[in-house]
Amino acid sequence: MKNATRKMQFLFALRSKGVTDARVLLAMETIDRGHFVKGLFENRTYEDMPLPIACGQTISQPSVVGLMTQALKVQPRDKVLEVGTGSGYQAAILSQLARRVYTVDRFSRLVREASAVFRKLDLTNVTAFTADGSHGLPDQAPFDRIIVTAAAEDTPGPLLAQLKIGGIMVLPVGQGQMVQNLITVTRTETGYDYDEIRPVRFVPLLEGLGKE
Ligand code: SAH
Repeated sequence: MKNATRKMQFLFALRSKGVTDARVLLAMETIDRGHFVKGLFENRTYEDMPLPIACGQTISQPSVVGLMTQALKVQPRDKVLEVGTGSGYQAAILSQLARRVYTVDRFSRLVREASAVFRKLDLTNVTAFTADGSHGLPDQAPFDRIIVTAAAEDTPGPLLAQLKIGGIMVLPVGQGQMVQNLITVTRTETGYDYDEIRPVRFVPLLEGLGKE
């Protein structure tokens, strides 16, 4: 199959799974997932499935990336924090929609490799740091939007504290790999509103830095 046909099917699959926001679809058309998938699994780049990356982690399923990005309702002036850089794919999509994107991962190797792709694609509004993102990124806080791409049992307190009033956070929460729910948290003047989106399965949000 030709690459152009594969890409058309990729976009079609996103739509059929509920990714309908025109700006999100355009961002996912612009940022080629092929830059973020290496080696053995390259031939599955345009399939709607998560794929293994370095450090025992995964690049998320494209339709889940689309649905999370859509739920985040990013505005052009927004400063966004992503916890869980992984391959850098989600951050690159956010770079098309936001003013500024900060992304952190506990593996310095993933941060290094993702940063190299950001440079290659000339995505100058994304910065990746090696850090334990369960503490957020105090130096750059507060954020208009926060997205977490690894699952915690509960929403980490520092992330709630680093969300602006009116800000939105999207994250998977739940115990273990089996029962996770993708939720949105909206900060109001007086507290936080929680909404469930759908069940998902992500790698766990772990404490401290990784070894690689
Ligand atoms: N968004 C990524 C997919 C990430 S997979 C992409 O588009 O490819 C989840 C990532 O979260 C992994 O790379 C893992 O190392 C990272 N992670 C897990 N716990 C973390 C923590 N406490 N702080 C920062 N990153 C973490």
